[in-house]
Amino acid sequence: MIPVTKPFLPPQEEYEAYLKGIWKRQWLTNMGPLANELELQLKNHLQIDHLLFVTNGTVALQIAIKALELTGEIITTPFSFVATTSSIAWEGIKPVFVDIDPKTFNIDPSAIEAAITEKTSAIIATHVYGNPCDIDAIQLIAEKHNLKVIYDGAHAFGVNYKGKSIFEYGDISTCSLHATKLYHSIEGGLVITKDPDLLKKMAYMRNFGFDGPERFAELGINGKNSEFHAAMGLNNLKYINQIIDKRKELTQHYDKMLKNVKCFTQEWNRNSNCNYAYLPIVFNDEQLMLKCMENLIAYNIYPRRYFYPSLAKSLPYVDPVEMKHTDDIARRVLCLPLYYDLSKEEVDLICRLILRVQNN
Ligand SMILES: *Cc1c(COP(=O)(O)O)cnc(C)c1O
Repeated sequence: MIPVTKPFLPPQEEYEAYLKGIWKRQWLTNMGPLANELELQLKNHLQIDHLLFVTNGTVALQIAIKALELTGEIITTPFSFVATTSSIAWEGIKPVFVDIDPKTFNIDPSAIEAAITEKTSAIIATHVYGNPCDIDAIQLIAEKHNLKVIYDGAHAFGVNYKGKSIFEYGDISTCSLHATKLYHSIEGGLVITKDPDLLKKMAYMRNFGFDGPERFAELGINGKNSEFHAAMGLNNLKYINQIIDKRKELTQHYDKMLKNVKCFTQEWNRNSNCNYAYLPIVFNDEQLMLKCMENLIAYNIYPRRYFYPSLAKSLPYVDPVEMKHTDDIARRVLCLPLYYDLSKEEVDLICRLILRVQNN
């Protein structure tokens, strides 16, 4: 079977060497030496000053929202994974959707201002499939209306924007290190900010608000992560360049093979590099997409409709709204298999199966 993604796993002996250390120290969680080492290595790899390793990408968003003391309404994108919206609702804040740009698949900055009310406290935008949002335009709007900005960078590990890590932008950026992502620690997440005071606050929040064993500095939750997860993160970081190179090669092969398919993909931000996290294609019509998907499944190949349906229409806790471009793209998009172990021959097969349906 060929799934849409498969987690990268390092050689088992390498991971076992980390386990030996954990057994020796008997320190399993609560920011042990491996979790600290992972934070150091990630800061170095990403060339950023501050980040925190947390439980997962969803808790990262929740800590970010809490730390910025957001209230009322948050403007966000309906074309993302459910956690982007659910984290907002979970904090008792109303998500207000703004449509996407049909070329980049990211929130359309020119539609944001019309959605701002006196209750709006922030913008939470996703760098969809790792493609940077229109950061400059969003920043201008935020400054003009005194709004905070959080970027959900769950897909954007390894992406740079204007020569700096994408995670340097916004008041806070978050990332997910879930097993299905490009770079993972099995479960895991990151919060990133340039503001040292905000970092300190989030560090307290991650650990129940503890300031020493008998004092509390903040409201907090359990947002920590374990030594076992940190070990996987450290181990996988050694392979990150190899992982991205392989995905690049596969993506270029897909591009070549899909030339004659009636479809398009997102327009990538010019100030940025691609991390090859996903392989989304948008077919000219939904019927063709569905037929292609059916034919792939018949061959035990499982692409996924990321992100369908639109979050603006499918969540029982949010009033449904029509969003012209999101609804249209969500109906026609299909993410094709892309992972380290995928072979060029398998890419050939996938593309031939799509072409066969189209040319029938
Ligand atoms: C995966 C993902 C998340 C959630 O991350 P977890 O680590 O699974 O909690 C949030 N936002 C987006 C856009 C994602 O793709």
